Amino acid sequence: MVDTILGKLEWLGHDGYRLVAGNQVIYFDPFKLSGEHQPADIILITHDHFDHCSLEDIEKILQESTTIITESDSAKKLSGSVITLQPGESCEVNGISVEAVPSYNTNKKFHPKKNSWLGFIITVEGVRIYHAGDTDYIPEMKNFKTDIALLPVSGTYVMTADEAAQAALDIKPEIAIPMHYNSIVGDTSDAEQFAKALDGKIRVETLQQV
Ligand SMILES: [Zn+2]
Repeated sequence: MVDTILGKLEWLGHDGYRLVAGNQVIYFDPFKLSGEHQPADIILITHDHFDHCSLEDIEKILQESTTIITESDSAKKLSGSVITLQPGESCEVNGISVEAVPSYNTNKKFHPKKNSWLGFIITVEGVRIYHAGDTDYIPEMKNFKTDIALLPVSGTYVMTADEAAQAALDIKPEIAIPMHYNSIVGDTSDAEQFAKALDGKIRVETLQQV
């Protein structure tokens, strides 16, 4: 089941992902989309930084029936059918359940906790997928339950590869996937470091960007 969902998950670069499952086309933080892309049923936006809430990219996949789920700063920039969540809140859209979870920095200033920006845990075809957003390793992670975890690994604005590995050990997903590298900051060595730190402990899948 988890591998079936993994096979339907595509990395669009940086923190952007597309999952076509549960009869839905779901995007997380679409950014720098090139070429033709399937219109979205659901778009999840973690926070309003330009590389996560990219109006230009959202425009490319938005259709009249699209539901956008996000936090309040991003919601102010967006139009259409927008659901605003606070960390800890959840909703259900077209059979997909969406939980908003905290996402913030602990030792840098870019993503303050008081902004109430988000990570998401969605459940599709019975599989839980966690997209962390721009976060450090935070104590709340110990309580997250997920089968697949998408975790930033680049350092600078988010946790480092070693901190992300610690986060994965807390969360204990079946599969951990490194993200937030090869675009704004970070490179393949961060993903490799993440995989090395979890070797023999948690299965790591490094997706190829499409
Ligand atoms: Zn950010």
